[in-house]
This record gives sequence, C-alpha cells and structure tokens, in this order.
Amino acid sequence: MKNSNDTWYDAVIIGAGLTGMYQLYLLRKAGLSVRGFDAAGDVGGTWYWNRYPGCRVDTESYVYCYGFSDELLNEWSWSERFASQPEVLRYLNFAADKMDVRRDFQFNTRVTGARYDEMRNAWTVELEDGDRVTTRYLISATGPLSAAQMPAYDGAASFRGESFHSYYWPRDPSGSTAGETADFTGKRVAVIGTGATGVQIITEVAKSAGELFVFQRTPNWCIPLGNGPLVAAEMDEIKSRYGDILDFCKTTPTSFPYMPINMSALDVSKMERDALFERLYNTPGYGIWLGNYKDTWSSKAANGVVSEFVASKIRERVKDQIVAEKLIPKNHGFGTRRVPMESGYYEVYNQSNVHLVDIKETPIERITQEGIATSAHRYELDVIIYATGFDALTGALDRMEIRGRSGLTLKEAWAADPQTYLGLQIAGFPNFFTLVAAQNGASFCNIAMCSQMQVEWVTDMIRHMQQNGFNHSELSAAAQDGWTAEIKRLLAKTLLGEVDSWFVGVNTNVAGKSERRALVYTGGGPAYRAICAEVAAGGYEGFQLKRTAQSKAAAKD
Ligand code: FAD
Ligand code: NAP
Repeated sequence: MKNSNDTWYDAVIIGAGLTGMYQLYLLRKAGLSVRGFDAAGDVGGTWYWNRYPGCRVDTESYVYCYGFSDELLNEWSWSERFASQPEVLRYLNFAADKMDVRRDFQFNTRVTGARYDEMRNAWTVELEDGDRVTTRYLISATGPLSAAQMPAYDGAASFRGESFHSYYWPRDPSGSTAGETADFTGKRVAVIGTGATGVQIITEVAKSAGELFVFQRTPNWCIPLGNGPLVAAEMDEIKSRYGDILDFCKTTPTSFPYMPINMSALDVSKMERDALFERLYNTPGYGIWLGNYKDTWSSKAANGVVSEFVASKIRERVKDQIVAEKLIPKNHGFGTRRVPMESGYYEVYNQSNVHLVDIKETPIERITQEGIATSAHRYELDVIIYATGFDALTGALDRMEIRGRSGLTLKEAWAADPQTYLGLQIAGFPNFFTLVAAQNGASFCNIAMCSQMQVEWVTDMIRHMQQNGFNHSELSAAAQDGWTAEIKRLLAKTLLGEVDSWFVGVNTNVAGKSERRALVYTGGGPAYRAICAEVAAGGYEGFQLKRTAQSKAAAKD
C-alpha cells in the first residue's frame, strides 16, 4: 500500500491518550496499516500531561477503564476509589503494553496540519519536524481538554519568579513518570483559576505554601469527592460483577454509575429532599449532581433548591462569612458547569496563610516582575500557577491547519459555529473522523467508557467501507444540518446552555470564543448509542459512501 512519493498508512491517528491508543489497536487488528502521532513523550494524554499535585479522577476509578477486555479488567486493581494521576498513568501504560500500541506511535511529534488531496482521496499529514505522511483515514483523538490556555495578561513574561500552566507542571528532574511533588514551603504562591484543576491544586498547595493567594474570577459549586482506599476485598467484589457494573453505566445518561431520580425535586417536601441531598453530599462521587432529581438539570426552581443546599454547606464549612459568600456562585446554578470535586477545599480558606482575591471586584491589571498587580494591590510572589483551563473541545483541532476539500480550514469552517454529524465527521472533510470532540456523545460523559464506544463504532464503519469496496465517506449537508440542530435543541432543554463554561465553548482567553456555542451532546449516552447503532444499521445513513476512481490509481488500493 506504500505510495511511491511518501509514506502511506491506511489510517493516521493523532493522539495517544486513552482514545487514540484504543483506536490504533482496533484498526491495526482490523488489518489496516496505522500510524499514530503524539506531541507527548509517551502514552497517556491527559494523564501524561497534568502532573500537578492533587490531580485525580472524579469518576470512580473502577469505571474509568477499558471495558473491552476481561484481561485488562481482571489484571488491574485500583488502590483508591478515585485514582490519582500517577496511578491512572500507570494504568494507561499497563493498557498500552497489553495492546502493544507503543511501537506504532511516534512520540514527541506534533501534527501541525493535514490537507485533503481530492485527486488521491487521501490526507497528507504534516508533522512539526517537516516530515509528511499520507493516509486514507485521518482520525483525531486529540482530546477535549488538551489545548491548555494561558490568559494574555500584560507583563506575564517579565515575572522573575516561576510561572506555569497546570497542564505543563514542571517535570520531576529525575525523569520520574509519577506525579510531581511540589514543595512550596515558605513560598508566596498565586493560583489563578478556580475550576476543577484550581480547586485540586489550591487544596494541596495550601498545605505547604508560606502564603497562598487564590485569584478567583467566578466561584464554582464544589462538592466532596469522598475518596478513600479500595481494599483488595472491595476490588475483588467489583471484579466479580464487573460486567454488570459496566452494563449499568451504559444505561445512565453520562456513563457514570448514577441514575437520575425520575421525579421532580419540587414534588417532595423540603424535609424529604434535604435528607436526600444530605445523603448524596456525604456519599463519595457525583451522586448529588448526576443521581439527583432529574429536573435539577432543567428547571430553575428545582435547581435553586439544590443550589441553596450546597450554598448552606459552604456557609457551614467556611468560618469567615464574607469569604463564604464570595465562594458561593451567584451567576449560575449548581451543576450547570462541570462540578469540581474537592477534598477539604473550603476548609483551606480557614487557614491564615490562604487569601481569596476576588478579581471581579479588583481585576488583575498586569503581571509585574515581582508578582500580580490588581486594581487594589500589588502582590509580591515567588510562583504563579495558571489554572486557567483549556480551549476546550475545538482548540486542539483549531491549532492544526486542517484543510478539507475546498481548501477551507476546519477553523474557518467552524468560525461561526461548529457543525458536525454525530460529532464524528464534518462536511467537506472526507474520511476525517473526530473522536471525543465537539457535538459527539463522548465528551459530556465518563469519557473512558464513552470514547470506547465511539472508537468501536468508527472501526466498524471503516471495516464496513473496506468490506463493501468504499474508500470515501463524505457527509450530506442535510445530515450535518440535522445533527447540529438537534444538538442545539437538546442543549436548550437544559440549564447548561444558559451558562458560560467550556461545555458551551466560552473561553474569554481565546479570540472569537466569547459567545456560547452548542458543543456538547446532552441527549444522554443511551440515546446517542441508539442513534449511532441505527445509523450503522441503515448502511451509515447520512454518510455518503462511495469508491473514488482517482484513488484507485493514485493509492494503488
Ligand atoms: P487526551 O487524553 O487529552 O489525549 C489527547 C492527546 O492528543 C494528548 O496526548 C495530546 O498531546 C495529543 N495531541 C493533541 N493535539 C496534538 C497534535 N496536534 N499533534 C500531536 N498530538 C496531539 N474525564 C472523565 O471522564 N473523568 C475524569 O475523572 C476526568 N478527569 C480529568 C482530569 C483532568 C485534570 C483533565 C484535564 C481532564 C479530565 N477528564 C476526565 C477528561 C479527560 O480529558 C478524558 O477523560 C480523557 O483522558 C480523554 O482522553 P483522550 O485520549 O480522548 O484525550
Ligand atoms: P476550567 O474549568 O475552565 O477553569 C478555568 C478557571 O480559570 C476558571 O475559574 C476561570 O474563571 C479561570 N480563568 C480563565 N481565564 C482567566 C483569566 N484570564 N483571569 C482569571 N481567571 C481566569 O478549567 P480546569 O479547571 O482546568 O478544568 C477543565 C475541565 O477538566 C474540568 O471541567 C473537568 O472536566 C476536567 N478536570 C477534571 C478534574 C477531576 O477532578 N477529575 C480535575 C481537573 C480538570 P471563569 O470561570 O471566570 O472563566
């Protein structure tokens, strides 16, 4: 299958996180020649990069796993209910060994662009070092949260201390692949950002920092993680009914092990619902978010009662009530953005070395050589940690120059609004599949489970094409318009669409991304899987599959 002018692969996969690894494994098993590329030095994606102290999953570890292989399920034992980054990375390395995928990935290699060549019905993939490879199927597994985003504060480069984004936490000089430790003893540290990442970092850094200044723009609703060890007997019990546990997750909207309660929060007495909220708040995991009365997602009144309950918990836990009020979100209800899970976060603000700086009240004006200048004060610092999040869902794709049929880049095609079919393909970009990306059913989800379904579906589609003599898949405009409209319709039924967050693509640090866009599929995992199954059963309805004559000559397939 090798082309005379350049290196040919049947499929190229960008990204060696949990999604890309599995995709490479399955396509190779299906008999395709496959090459993967990752900017990272090894497998792991999210868990390779994010090495900040406190980094851990908020999904129960035992369902944040590959479910396709009994061997993988049985041979791995998690040590904690919510595994830390080093343990997740060890797991992904273990899975990479089992799938033997490393040999087909090229690491430390960023893909800078890809161009569709109509004559050859092929993609030319451009690599950072100037090399190029050619492929029939281009598959991005670049991650929903992999394009780390720094804010553009004046003077940032002039800061004389240490500063870094959480995604690029300084590596352990010993080269260890374990999570990095960070000793901030006696140091004056700033953390900018109070999303899930900031909350985890702040809780850890507060333990050793001389002074910790938290620069908060928008508070989030945080709930206790309830982490603890998973002892051998518990893990054995989980393994004894693993199939049932994973099957249950497939029936829940988010593939987490929580089913929403099929009644309104307003149909029960305050006493009854508060008792439920109390129990869920004190139970490990996302129960109070994902296993609550179903209308807490859609009705402002129902959402209001759970928000008030969580606010009362913040008031109880934070001693200074002025600080407590600053930590209670006022512009969005509970669960309308991703809920950070915490392990003692609110108590941190009872420590004398921790100071909350409300930058809505006193905005950051610039970074100076010495630290951070707000409209009210100059903070002298040794370290600035940017926990400012990601250009989520579309950022990793935008950062490559992906040119489709007409020469238009994907970034240009999506300038007004991303449009896709099933979140998996884009009109004008034939044979290009986007995994765990905008508008697909894997990004608002327990991603470990949902991405597997997607990878299997794409593999089946490519296999179907190979078996039926097709080599070209292009969307019909109607399919794309219909899906994009459906994403918008579903989002409008929830409160998520009314709040700025990465779910709706708002990122104030990225030009052109200040407006809300319909980026996540909120119809639930079971519905998404049913739609995908129906599309496949109908011969991949919506995808126009054909065989191109040019490609027969050019790619000799
Ligand atoms: P990633 O793991 O992000 O991997 C993408 C890979 O693509 C990266 O290695 C990156 O280097 C590479 N890449 C991107 N662009 C290029 C390019 N141009 N060239 C070459 N390589 C490129 N989800 C959950 O469901 N549960 C959790 O508990 C959870 N916790 C999280 C904690 C943190 C700190 C973060 C940031 C995210 C978390 N997520 C969680 C979401 C997480 O991203 C997914 O669960 C999952 O890791 C995504 O896997 P992936 O393989 O699709 O993408
Ligand atoms: P995030 O949720 O987008 O939070 C970014 C934070 O930085 C927000 O508080 C934001 O404030 C702030 N910020 C951004 N730009 C700023 C600026 N210019 N000035 C001041 N503040 C600024 O990002 P994240 O915390 O990295 O989390 C992203 C996602 O990763 C999570 O939602 C979750 O899905 C995943 N994650 C999961 C875990 C876990 O527990 N498993 C841990 C970490 C991350 P505004 O809100 O005002 O914009």
